[in-house]
Amino acid sequence: MPKTIESNVLNVTAADPRATYLAHKDEIRAAIEGVLDRGRYILGDEVRQFECEFARYIGVRECVAVASGTDALQLALRACEIGPGDRVLTVSNTAVATVAAIHLVGATPVLADVDARTFTLDLECAENAIRHPHGQRIRAVIPVHLYGHPCAMDAMTALAARYDLRIIEDCAQAHGAAFGGRRVGSFGHLGAFSFYPTKNLGAFGDGGAVVTNDPQLATKLRLLRQYGWSERYISIIPGMNTRLDELQAAILRVNLRYLEHANARRRAIASEYDEALATSAVQIPVVLPEAFHVYHQYVIRSEDRENLRIYLQRRGVGTAVLYPVPIHCQQGYRDIIETGPGGLRETERASREILCLPVHPGLTNAQVGLIKSLVAAWTPQTVR
Ligand SMILES: *Cc1c(COP(=O)(O)O)cnc(C)c1O
Repeated sequence: MPKTIESNVLNVTAADPRATYLAHKDEIRAAIEGVLDRGRYILGDEVRQFECEFARYIGVRECVAVASGTDALQLALRACEIGPGDRVLTVSNTAVATVAAIHLVGATPVLADVDARTFTLDLECAENAIRHPHGQRIRAVIPVHLYGHPCAMDAMTALAARYDLRIIEDCAQAHGAAFGGRRVGSFGHLGAFSFYPTKNLGAFGDGGAVVTNDPQLATKLRLLRQYGWSERYISIIPGMNTRLDELQAAILRVNLRYLEHANARRRAIASEYDEALATSAVQIPVVLPEAFHVYHQYVIRSEDRENLRIYLQRRGVGTAVLYPVPIHCQQGYRDIIETGPGGLRETERASREILCLPVHPGLTNAQVGLIKSLVAAWTPQTVR
């Protein structure tokens, strides 16, 4: 039976990493076979070449590939010698991983509110938190380029310089995003990336990387990545094991070649949604003039979010809520974090109103067309 547009749209999911595989199947299979045939499976040529290619793409000198985005953040913190007794500032509306990494190195997460327009760290709230610490001063800040929209890195770097803070950018959702023409990951002392399969640049397993322009930090990251080894069996500092494997590196090298293309597709879908929803009942994403948004997520807002979600689900459109529970409200974290003065009102409001429409590059034009007409036709009373 031929597939109709309707039967296609009935199957739209919030993310679809398999579409990336299917789009480049032959190249990916060849890359995997190459690794299997050569017989070197950990820290070989594929990882080295991926590190060079990814550093060049971001516009930095160094890239150190690791086992996940959480490890990338953790290693970046360790490279800055942040640990027990230290405080690290970030947001509460983020992946648990951001805050987990701070806790994993023994530091205390301090969570400040977000800008209501861009969902990224509100710099006024950040400054208030920095100026009114609960105890030890804040030593580092992790700006999260959430949903693929970059933080305002000009003001962010100025603030960090004023208070002598390390900047570790959380770029897990922003491969290729830029602010003022410069790619994220190149602004901070360090930038951390995740290659979880659904990210803009994804592996087909776990993976991550830390980038930096500082060769000394890069050397330290390489030591920390593998037991503190300066050479095989010789540990000169205490370290851990967080390596990217050759198979994932080979797959990432293929997917990196298509990242610009995939981001362009995400942006084209987003611009169709923008146009169709500009005068609808939902609020469309705000993009700062200096920002190059790569739409890891296309996030709309409505006070009647739950009904919109059900309405779309009933018509076969899967959506996601990133994130339904801010970290400071999570049972596992609420007692080990501190919050900035003034509370987290915008963060809490966002968690009730946000909805991520499918925006992955595997969507067909017909699917995008149907999703946008469904949302455009919805009114807060449309519950059937
Ligand atoms: C995915 C993600 C991470 C963590 O990456 P993992 O590879 O899953 O460990 C960190 N921060 C943000 C904002 C993310 O979206």
